[in-house]
Amino acid sequence: MKTHKQIKDWGLNLTTPLIIAGPCSAESPEQIEKICLDMKEANAVPQIFRAGIWKPRTRPGSFEGIGEDGLKWMEIVRHHLNIPITVEVGNAAHAELALKHGVDVIWVGARTTVNPFAVQEIAEALRGSDVPVMVKNPMNPDLDLWIGALERMHAVGLDKLAAIHRGFSDAYDKRFRNKPNWSMPIHLKRVWTGMEVINDPSHIVGRRDGILEVSQRAINFGLDGLMIETHHDPDNAWSDAKQQVTPKALREILNAIDFKEPLENMRPDERLQDLRRAVDHLDDQLLDILQERFAVIDQIGEHKREHHLTVFQSDRWKDVMESRTQKGMAKNLSEKFMKELLYSIHEESVKRQEKQLREADAIKKA
Ligand code: PEP
Ligand code: MN
Repeated sequence: MKTHKQIKDWGLNLTTPLIIAGPCSAESPEQIEKICLDMKEANAVPQIFRAGIWKPRTRPGSFEGIGEDGLKWMEIVRHHLNIPITVEVGNAAHAELALKHGVDVIWVGARTTVNPFAVQEIAEALRGSDVPVMVKNPMNPDLDLWIGALERMHAVGLDKLAAIHRGFSDAYDKRFRNKPNWSMPIHLKRVWTGMEVINDPSHIVGRRDGILEVSQRAINFGLDGLMIETHHDPDNAWSDAKQQVTPKALREILNAIDFKEPLENMRPDERLQDLRRAVDHLDDQLLDILQERFAVIDQIGEHKREHHLTVFQSDRWKDVMESRTQKGMAKNLSEKFMKELLYSIHEESVKRQEKQLREADAIKKA
């Protein structure tokens, strides 16, 4: 199992839910100072200040970031807010400059996570530094790419890690700028135990309205924090103007969110324990039924072998799929769930029967 240090152990005095805020892009020392002062005034000082210094823009000609100068302005944040600072790096040179200027936390953007060469180059540049790294999900919904980028950091000894969920681009679904695909961050948390995922509602929604709703969903799902783009004058921001909020609006969003208690912090609750025992019992029954079902499948396999029948019969499969899906939907199970469940059971059945045939062939040949 991959071990890593969680946010609370990064040595930066951070807790979850972690709130990260700051502008999409650093624009000028005056802008950074104004945002800091407005954050203080609105009682909306985040735990980490974010600012893009190098901006990976989809089309050329947009503002591509202020570059190294912006790193010097981070002193303004330290002076006014005295909180850690995070910036995005997209290549080894950025990573080296970020380290040189004492950036506290580094993040890898969605357009970089898709490119294993760039991720590896950044990892090498950070080797030996102990800087915490947050990896945004890749543009496309590919969990392995996301995990792979975290693994590349881990492999060079960077063990202060977290992930950022910023949604996935979808050419057809225009409800979101980047579709959330909630199963993806949840899956990451399942396969990498203890990996914390910060939600970035700003890049998911792409507009100011809707940030609260997506933030609340992220908290409901058990994600570990929020990164919200915050600017003193969002309409005139040099990048992502439509989605940035003022520090005052940030305060209102944070006040409106119903932050849930993480289950692991909860005092033992009899009702929940009873319900979980009931689920344990039902799962045992489910496994007994599956065992019985596969025993019958094995008998069918034996019969097919004796009568020289093929393992896969498409008419039967179509019939099973359709009738069970209908029955499941009548029991309030979703069509998607029924199809995935049946597909998975069927795939296992086919594999078992194919194995029987293979073994019988091997015996014949011997
Ligand atoms: C950003 O956070 O400003 C950014 C460029 O995000 P992403 O990599 O998610 O597009
Ligand atoms: Mn942005």
